[in-house]
Amino acid sequence: MAAVGIIGLGNMGRGMALSLKRSGYRVLGFDAVEATRAALAEEGIETFSDIGPLCRDAEIVILSLPTAAIVEEVVTGKNGLLAHARPGLLVVDTSTSHPQTTRKLSGLLADAGMALMDAPVSGGPKGAITGTMTMVIGGSDADVARATPVLEAMSAKRVHVGPVGAGHVTKIINNLLCAAQLLTAAEAVRIAREAGVDAERMLEGINAGSGRSGVTLVNFPTWVLNGAFDSGFSMKLMRKDVRLAEQFMGELGLSLPLAADTARIWAESVATIPDGADFNRIVELQLGQATTN
Ligand code: NAD
Repeated sequence: MAAVGIIGLGNMGRGMALSLKRSGYRVLGFDAVEATRAALAEEGIETFSDIGPLCRDAEIVILSLPTAAIVEEVVTGKNGLLAHARPGLLVVDTSTSHPQTTRKLSGLLADAGMALMDAPVSGGPKGAITGTMTMVIGGSDADVARATPVLEAMSAKRVHVGPVGAGHVTKIINNLLCAAQLLTAAEAVRIAREAGVDAERMLEGINAGSGRSGVTLVNFPTWVLNGAFDSGFSMKLMRKDVRLAEQFMGELGLSLPLAADTARIWAESVATIPDGADFNRIVELQLGQATTN
């Protein structure tokens, strides 16, 4: 079976690497942090101190990196993918990144005989490690067809939305909605509490009706009402995604009131909720720290 490279072995990249290995792929991994490489090597992933071996031996290289700026650095930087160019290499960016960056990098990689597609993910670290993520994909039909066997080993559902960048546009919209729905669901729980109605029962009712969302169906029961707050997705990353949405809407010349309020509230949360906290903690702005029912 073909070798697959993964750059970025964090919460998501680690799970993807292990899912690919379980499916029989040879997995070649790189992370900027030595301790992360060592931890993955303990789990049976071949890790390297630079991306050279990945570019040489892998058919497909997957990126799972924090920000668009880091993705750009990993492609164009001194020891990046362009410096190690191998014509025919297909790069799949699963990071939540900026569509314009994606389109620009796709052009640069194409000039070097390589290809880029965006396949950002949902499902969190649990989805990554169980190979059950959802992917929204941007790329050419030929590249998507080529990557599909590898993507199938990591995901349960894939939607090919359009050309390069369309996956990142969709992912930004998805996370903006999730960020907004966390705020509206927290307000719903606040109303129920003030009205003397049990929050869990209220959400059960909502989830049988038209007010339900991914947040009321999944986030509140799994991470909020039980006080677990262990989704594996941080405030820092969600604040980044909301900023990305705000920036992207600005570039499109859009001024949308609910999106603007969502962006403001998430930006201001930096004063009270630390970067490393679980992103579901945003509900504490409405519900206080004793969020357990
Ligand atoms: P993470 O911070 O846990 O992992 C990112 C990894 O990239 C880290 O191990 C870091 O050391 C490594 N890294 C940073 N700079 C690097 C570089 N220059 N070269 C190589 N490695 C580098 O983040 P994560 O939670 O795994 O998220 C990764 C991406 O997936 C982000 O874009 C995030 O928004 C997105 N995402 C995360 C989740 C989630 O639930 N965690 C869900 C969906 C999407």
